[in-house]
Amino acid sequence: MHYFVDVILPLPLPKPFTYQITEAEHAYIKPGIRLVVPFGKKKKYAALAVETHTRIPAYEAKWIDYIIDEHPMVTSSQLKHWRWISEYYMCPMGLVLRAAVPSMLLLESETELVHLQAPTSNLSISNNARLLWDKLASVEKIPLAQVSDYTTAQNPFKVVQELLDHKLIATREEVYGRYAPKEEVRLSMAQEYQKEDKLITLLGSLEKFEAQRQTLLQMAQQKQPISRPVFYKLPGVSKSSVQTLLQKGVFEATSHKVDRLPIKTDAESPLSPLTQAQQHVLEQIQNANKNLSVHLLHGVTASGKTEVYMHLIQDVLRSGKQVLFLVPEIALTAQLIQRLHQHFGRQMAVYHSRYSQSERVEVWRALLEKKPSVQLIVGARSAVLLPFSDLGLIVVDESHEYAYKQFEAAPRYHARDAAVVLGQIHKATVVLGSATPSVESYHNATQGKYHLNTLTQRFEGFQLPTIELIDLKSTQKKRQMQGVFSAPLIEAIKETLKKGDQVILFQNRRGYAPFVSCMACGHVPQCASCDVSLTYHSHSQQLKCHYCDYAIPVHGHCTACGTPQPRPMGLGTQQVEEEIVKLFPKARVARMDTDTTRGKNGHQLLIDRFQNRELDILVGTQMLTKGLDFGGVSLVGVVQADGLLHFPNFRAHERAFQMLLQVAGRAGRAGQHGSVLVQTYDVHHPVLTQLINNDYQDMFDSQIQQRGQFKYPPFQRLIRLEFKHKSFAVLQEAANWFASALRANFPEVLGPQSPPVGRIRNQYVMHILLKLPADKSTTAPKAQIMRVVNRFEQIASYRSVRIHIDVDPI
Ligand code: ADP
Ligand code: ZN
Repeated sequence: MHYFVDVILPLPLPKPFTYQITEAEHAYIKPGIRLVVPFGKKKKYAALAVETHTRIPAYEAKWIDYIIDEHPMVTSSQLKHWRWISEYYMCPMGLVLRAAVPSMLLLESETELVHLQAPTSNLSISNNARLLWDKLASVEKIPLAQVSDYTTAQNPFKVVQELLDHKLIATREEVYGRYAPKEEVRLSMAQEYQKEDKLITLLGSLEKFEAQRQTLLQMAQQKQPISRPVFYKLPGVSKSSVQTLLQKGVFEATSHKVDRLPIKTDAESPLSPLTQAQQHVLEQIQNANKNLSVHLLHGVTASGKTEVYMHLIQDVLRSGKQVLFLVPEIALTAQLIQRLHQHFGRQMAVYHSRYSQSERVEVWRALLEKKPSVQLIVGARSAVLLPFSDLGLIVVDESHEYAYKQFEAAPRYHARDAAVVLGQIHKATVVLGSATPSVESYHNATQGKYHLNTLTQRFEGFQLPTIELIDLKSTQKKRQMQGVFSAPLIEAIKETLKKGDQVILFQNRRGYAPFVSCMACGHVPQCASCDVSLTYHSHSQQLKCHYCDYAIPVHGHCTACGTPQPRPMGLGTQQVEEEIVKLFPKARVARMDTDTTRGKNGHQLLIDRFQNRELDILVGTQMLTKGLDFGGVSLVGVVQADGLLHFPNFRAHERAFQMLLQVAGRAGRAGQHGSVLVQTYDVHHPVLTQLINNDYQDMFDSQIQQRGQFKYPPFQRLIRLEFKHKSFAVLQEAANWFASALRANFPEVLGPQSPPVGRIRNQYVMHILLKLPADKSTTAPKAQIMRVVNRFEQIASYRSVRIHIDVDPI
């Protein structure tokens, strides 16, 4: 009798691979155990066993090299879930494996190992591990493939894993890919110069050194030591002046430990009692029919959705089951995480794809062992792929967020939908929460697929903010504009600052201006490798591409016709910031967008400063819309709503409504009256009418009607095929071939078409959109598409054309 094992390799292969094993191995190997297998001529991989059997494969199966694990690293329900993702999103299992498992657990022959200096006293490791560790001490780094030269152990991978587990060695990636720095440098004025007379003398002596003077003046305004990167970003601060002032002993630098989370304490605060409305929702969810376990919680901003979640969580934790709490982006949810931590700290772990490998592996292992310290997992979308064994509850917070859909790389899954399926596998309750649910989710609720629960009032009856439109056409005609700000908005900002409250200004575009245009010939400078105009950044005096790293200095004249002064057109956050600083020179202003939050803790530092009232005005992009809870904000200004309304996507209106209502929801959260002013050229736009009336229902009704009429989700399912190639001619021919092959099988094939940005990083892009009826299974159509893909890949001249499949694109 011959024995075999089917494994998944962390590679984009269409099927599992079969290897030969001994009878003893056959008895030992369970699904979810890792094996080392040879692949190709020389390579070795850690692969995942999925099935052992005695069916002889069509090809000659190689033998496995070693067995790594004693216990499965992946649970059976997890494998079932991964299979669903793989099939539904048309993505090879190997890529789901790669997305799910921390790479430290997927050792490959190229993985480089680094020796760490760790304490040696009384460590209980195997003899083989100790010998190998001693030998590795003399080399800087070695690839895993060569480890067998250093050990006589039968199973070198196992010894390596032991050393990794004890943190005696590390993978190179782990050493260089650490997440948040644990130490932060803070700057402050030296004791001596905190006296006013000393400071004034010093300022006098710096008359000829304007940069140092400005830097010093900024420091004089700081009440506490300030983090160095934050200080560098303040107006007037120059890095070299900071260095000089440090050398002169005027400034001091101290190092501080920054904890990502507060230390776990034993004392956990009890939950607040719920209001009647909240209690009603809680009971509805708890007492609901278990066969239909998905709940949509539609609650206005600050209605206490989070309080309801916490009561649900507490209950499930007490019953001994696991809880998964999904958030759209960890970096933007520190406030929420702290709130959960206060109550559930001892049972909670945060899973973040940017945490170090060893932290992620720790969470993974603790989950497999069902440790109480990880009974509640808080994480962004990849947390749905973790090894849960007994989930009782999944909460998807801000479930309308587009960040839940992965679209850059396969698997292109939607974590909200994957969570619903995960809930079914575990028979767990799933709660999708939002103040602005996606049209799809709300449709499911109206169709009886989900339970619908609503909270229509803010906590303690606090008023929802009043939302008013400002007609830019008329303010411009009446000359009531200063730059991009209308007189009513300026007046409102003035009043708010006078009261000591804070202001948020929203403009959903970063940079200074979307593009510059020559007034004489209309020429707009373009990126050299993408089909997109360059964005003007006034601070760096550069024109930058937002799709690649291309940037050129601003020329004083048009590069096409030579006319001086091309003019910035449109509006970005940087311009908003600059103008507001001019209008309110005394206000403390900062900007939050991907340009100002690049650093590892960028978001957090800005949010903290705003929260601590060290800032008066925060200017930002859609980052500001993501569930932040600031007590001091009583005014939100939308600088120009129009850009959001006119977007070539069938979700544009839904998205604009969501974004505007969410940013409006940041106002008046702590009892004071909140007010929202929206500047626009289009005061009669239906979305804006729905916004000022806070009328989600009307938005939903008009959207659902249009989606039906124009055949879009939720009535149709979309599958988008993306083709990329450096030659447009080859691309076009290939995409045309594909579209006609699809048309032979499907009635609704759109394209091929170039997307709005038709070339990115020198690769041309084309899309084909396929519409399928939403009420029929998509299994057969997907198999059909894969057959076309296979035929396509046989055609030699198309071989270098890349295809990406995106199911349910956003
Ligand atoms: P949402 O998640 O719907 O935006 P939150 O749960 O953040 O709302 O509630 C908004 C604010 O009101 C928070 O500061 C929260 O602490 C407070 N709050 C809501 N419900 C209660 C309650 N039952 N008891 C005490 N405070 C509450
Ligand atoms: Zn570019």
